[in-house]
Amino acid sequence: MEEEVPHLMVVPYSAQGHMIPALVLASRLAGLDFEVSYVCHDFRLEQVKREAKARACNPHIKFQTLKKNFPSKEQQESSSGHDSMELMGWAFGFHPEDGVELKELISAANPPISCIITDNLLASWAQDVADELNIPRIIFYPSPGMALAFHFYVKNMLHQNKLPVRVQELVRIPGIDSAGLSPLSSDQVIDLILETVPKVMRDFYVTNAVRDHEAAGVMCNTFAAIEEEACIAVSENPQINPNKVPFVDIGPLLPDSYFAEDNACEDYDKVECLAWLDEQPTASVVYISFGSFARANRKQIEELALGLEASEKRFLWVLHNGAEELLPEGFLERATTNKTGMAVRKWAPQLLVLSHRAVGGFMTHCGWNSTMESLSRGVPMITMPFYGEQRGNARIIVEHLGIGVGLAKDGKDGLITRIAFEQAFRAVIDEGELVRSKAAQVKQAARAAFKVSPRKIKDLINKVLESNRSRQTGLQFKFF
Ligand code: UDP
Repeated sequence: MEEEVPHLMVVPYSAQGHMIPALVLASRLAGLDFEVSYVCHDFRLEQVKREAKARACNPHIKFQTLKKNFPSKEQQESSSGHDSMELMGWAFGFHPEDGVELKELISAANPPISCIITDNLLASWAQDVADELNIPRIIFYPSPGMALAFHFYVKNMLHQNKLPVRVQELVRIPGIDSAGLSPLSSDQVIDLILETVPKVMRDFYVTNAVRDHEAAGVMCNTFAAIEEEACIAVSENPQINPNKVPFVDIGPLLPDSYFAEDNACEDYDKVECLAWLDEQPTASVVYISFGSFARANRKQIEELALGLEASEKRFLWVLHNGAEELLPEGFLERATTNKTGMAVRKWAPQLLVLSHRAVGGFMTHCGWNSTMESLSRGVPMITMPFYGEQRGNARIIVEHLGIGVGLAKDGKDGLITRIAFEQAFRAVIDEGELVRSKAAQVKQAARAAFKVSPRKIKDLINKVLESNRSRQTGLQFKFF
């Protein structure tokens, strides 16, 4: 009898920075000849399909949606594809009703689901679904290995009464010492465990972190060449991973063609900003984007803009969620007249931008996807982290890998001054030989990791499925 192809169901957390890499994972799984379903909220489907096209995803992915649990119309409002504060407020909560609906989807699936691969932020109900239906659950972790090591270590901290953590308290993650990154200040790991964070948010994070220890495996969007210690700590350190949840580093999760020498694969309609980039000198433009959600306040945007102007560097700046209104008067008009800068008001074709020869640096909020996208194309970064584990990511970029320039905050009011911005822009565009050469090395390492990623994914899935089969057989013997 011909053996049935395993059917895997990928369920991301409902935010762009989680849905996009999960989509690339689904595509890679389909390329490995698994049957693959990708489940998102119904109101996200259009967006997801657009990204699937832009990232040339495998056409065999089956898209399915959760329809019952919806944010309100106002919460759904997002500007030009970017997520609003209201939408993220909705997403950041326990949604067990999604679990009920997911169970229905799994039960109705044909061929039957062999395994679910769900985001770490869904553990509180996704693990129950897996247990009830007797199928394994693999965690998809879209952030760095360092954050995953901490995520797993949270259970240990909870048992030692070390939670919540005071602001600026130092956190030492076992096994992560010599990379020069440990100890980290509390907000550099995951700021959600801080005592200043509302209890409901802390509980959400901690509950998911604790339940993730019950998973059958964990896949992380990183690669050992840039995070060796974290990868070893997660796979081997009993203080972090006492249940020995099988771990694999599968990054960078990016489209195949992103690693071709001069082409990224996005298939957006011809957009204005790319035509503008075509006219700029090589490595002269700073691309500025804070991802799908983060936004700086008026004072900070003003300092940034004035620092940019003083540096006389060219720029392409993604301005969304009303950020444009916060710019100093006449700033954009002057840049447009002088042909030195351009604003992108919609969702930017980021992979194409980072692949463009005119882009010499990326000012980023250090979201992990943006970080992986930048380092995979050898583009040096200017780090401007906001929340989550972004401050820790900035340390990885600047201190550990040396592929970016940091921005010091002014002690008085915690702002980054225009002078700091001006210096950073000059440092990356005019004096960036060292960061550029290190970025070129990391790019090669990313490419090497990308090549072995499919085999690693396949090995983990097979291991998890095999161990589930043995468990089921064991259960049957016990029963009879
Ligand atoms: N992105 C994009 N265009 C935009 C803004 C974001 O393509 O205008 C993509 C970006 O390439 C990345 C993702 O959205 O893949 C953002 O993820 P990241 O982890 O960098 O940040 P987050 O949005 O989760 O804070």
